[in-house]
Amino acid sequence: MSPSSQQRQLFDAEPPPWELDEQAEQLVAEIVFSGAPWGPYDYCVPDNLRARLQLGKRVRVALGRGERPMTGYCVKLENRPAGARQLKPILQVIDEQTLLSPHMLRLTAWLADYYLCHWGQALDAAVPAGVRWQAGTREVKFFQLAPHARSQDASLKLTEKQRAIIEALEQSTRPLTLQQLMQRAKVTSAPIQTLRKKQLLEVTSERIMQTDLDDAPLPREANHDLHADQRTALATILSTLNSGQHRTILMHGVTGSGKTEVYIRAIEEVIRFGRQAIVLVPEISLTPQTRQRFRSRFERVAVLHSHLSDKERHYHWQRIARGEVEVIVGARSAIFAPTPHLGLIVIDEEHDGSFKQDSAPRYHARDVAEYRAKAEGLPLVLGSATPSLESWHRAHSGEYTLLTMPVRVYARPLPHVGTIDLRDEFQNRSSRGAVSRPLHQAIHQALREEGQVILLLNRRGFATSIQCPACGHVVECPNCSIALTHHRVEAKAVCHYCDYLIDAPVRCPECNFDGIRYAGLGTQKLEAEIRSRFADVPVLRMDSDTMQKPGSHEEALARFRDGEIKILLGTQMIAKGLDFPNVTLVGVINADTALHFPDFRASERTFQLVTQVAGRTGRGEKGGRVLVQTFSPEHPAIVAALEHDYERFAAGELEVRRRFNYPPFSAMIRLLVRGGLETAAEAFADQLADRVRQATKTCEVETRILGPAPAPLAKLHGKFRFHILLQAADAADLRRVVREAARDLKPPEDVFWAVDVDPLDML
Ligand code: ADP
Ligand code: ZN
Repeated sequence: MSPSSQQRQLFDAEPPPWELDEQAEQLVAEIVFSGAPWGPYDYCVPDNLRARLQLGKRVRVALGRGERPMTGYCVKLENRPAGARQLKPILQVIDEQTLLSPHMLRLTAWLADYYLCHWGQALDAAVPAGVRWQAGTREVKFFQLAPHARSQDASLKLTEKQRAIIEALEQSTRPLTLQQLMQRAKVTSAPIQTLRKKQLLEVTSERIMQTDLDDAPLPREANHDLHADQRTALATILSTLNSGQHRTILMHGVTGSGKTEVYIRAIEEVIRFGRQAIVLVPEISLTPQTRQRFRSRFERVAVLHSHLSDKERHYHWQRIARGEVEVIVGARSAIFAPTPHLGLIVIDEEHDGSFKQDSAPRYHARDVAEYRAKAEGLPLVLGSATPSLESWHRAHSGEYTLLTMPVRVYARPLPHVGTIDLRDEFQNRSSRGAVSRPLHQAIHQALREEGQVILLLNRRGFATSIQCPACGHVVECPNCSIALTHHRVEAKAVCHYCDYLIDAPVRCPECNFDGIRYAGLGTQKLEAEIRSRFADVPVLRMDSDTMQKPGSHEEALARFRDGEIKILLGTQMIAKGLDFPNVTLVGVINADTALHFPDFRASERTFQLVTQVAGRTGRGEKGGRVLVQTFSPEHPAIVAALEHDYERFAAGELEVRRRFNYPPFSAMIRLLVRGGLETAAEAFADQLADRVRQATKTCEVETRILGPAPAPLAKLHGKFRFHILLQAADAADLRRVVREAARDLKPPEDVFWAVDVDPLDML
């Protein structure tokens, strides 16, 4: 057949558009699944489901030749000309109400595109499991009169009981459940069923919540008079609010400067307009104090923390969706709260790593919030004493509006921060163990003056950098400016970014000291040392090992607050967001463990950590001080933290980032490969890197490819891990490269790989 005759045939077979009749059109739904095959797939919508099916509801369909039953989300609905191919029908519509507004559908589609995951994964992240399973709900039947049924109608020939039933329904303003109807008409279920069979009653069914959990409001707390910086900050937020335009506002305020107070005032304004606000805080800050602070200021608050049951989560979700909640306070995933008229998003401690999800979809709540705030035309307020360098950079390039609150409320002084040089301690051999003599004396004094003490040990035991105890020198990679990791068994030092490998030095390259080595220390060992140094003093250790039970974290903090515990020691878990007026001393056991982590953000993390922990002291009248033990007292991150000088730290660190072309000056994607067999995982990582190299050529994108190298956590849960770091100037270009490289790529059996866009975790 010649092309032209084929054309003619086509035209012959298909009438021109103006002749299409109704019959030739069909309603087509695009369905995506939460597992492979992900879709989207086209299904036709049968007439009887047209009224019920809506975008964002879930449906049952049969997939493929095997007619595999599947549940999927309806993400698109459109009329299309009935094609030659017969589409399978939607079998059932699951949800009574839609789970995703058009806004949220667009947001999840963007999320999947940006984070290189499947749409179904993004949808599952946005809709809590408890909502999908309809936890805590049950199907309830409601009875009402059929339009033609009347108790006075003699032609109906009703028994006395039947008449009582109809009368009860006539008198009710709402449809009744079976129980209610039996009670009101004083009958059993039998006559009700008879009437139903006669079609005098109509039955509808609805899913309702089993329980009605209720938060009783707390007594209202009075507002403070705002100080000048707070008034300026509030005015800026309110003017954005009133403009109806999106703006991101970065509030850089030292701990205790009154940022939360500003959020609360802005939210009050949002509520006056009949809108809702979302406040994201790090999971660890969702303490009873935070909850109470919001609940004492707002009547209808939903606090979404990780210990909620599915049932409770579903309950809150429904209330939020109905517009019954004014303020949603929650961790990362609260950014997906289905508020009908969102007015404001606040992210407190915006630099916190917990806003990034560490499994697919690996989204960052700050970026999702920014997308949402733009799409819905509202302000996004980011607050921190130590903003992430990404946000700081954006504020300085004019993308964000910067507000600063440099002083604490009542001008309370910031605590004095001092260092203890561990090199001196080492050379004088003045103490054995983790606690230096000056720190020991300071603890002693604090306890004698009835103060409390926090000791911080930031330890991830495996990360063993090589640092000279005599001069503090750290062996680094010349390509990446990252500390090399010591592999004791093979006596090698390796860069976990670019795979640079040398023999571990025996002598310090800097001062020639011949005892260069690293001795790790755990919280447990520290606890033992403290107990033996301060016998009879109540000590509590807090880390992820001791705080596994839900609620144990809060209980421990309550005991510390009450003064029962005098010394609290632990990992960074204790560094954040807690307000203890009686803490007069904070000791950082070894700031270097965080400083020489194989991560380009190591300095930033250390600065944040020391600053945050310093914010834990001096909150009350007594004031307080901070002592930081370190082998690197002249390191810029430590020096800046001592002086509470964020701006100086940020300026210096951004220079380093620029020089090595790290974010925020480039876009970064991390590819992580895991496998039970080291050789198989490594071979696949090599193959992946080759494909990326190919793809950079195909896409004509200049990309820096680091690795593959063993990940710093080279073996985890019995799997060997390799990673590849990709950097390019433009984020969209870089995603294009990874998409191209991943096209039809199938790892061998027992090898898995993951894409992490804008990675925070480099381990
Ligand atoms: P941040 O969020 O910056 O750490 P907060 O808003 O929690 O600061 O304020 C620190 C403390 O000061 C809180 O106890 C708060 O109630 C109080 N506070 C805040 N603003 C004022 C103010 N204008 N006047 C008096 N007290 C205030
Ligand atoms: Zn390197």
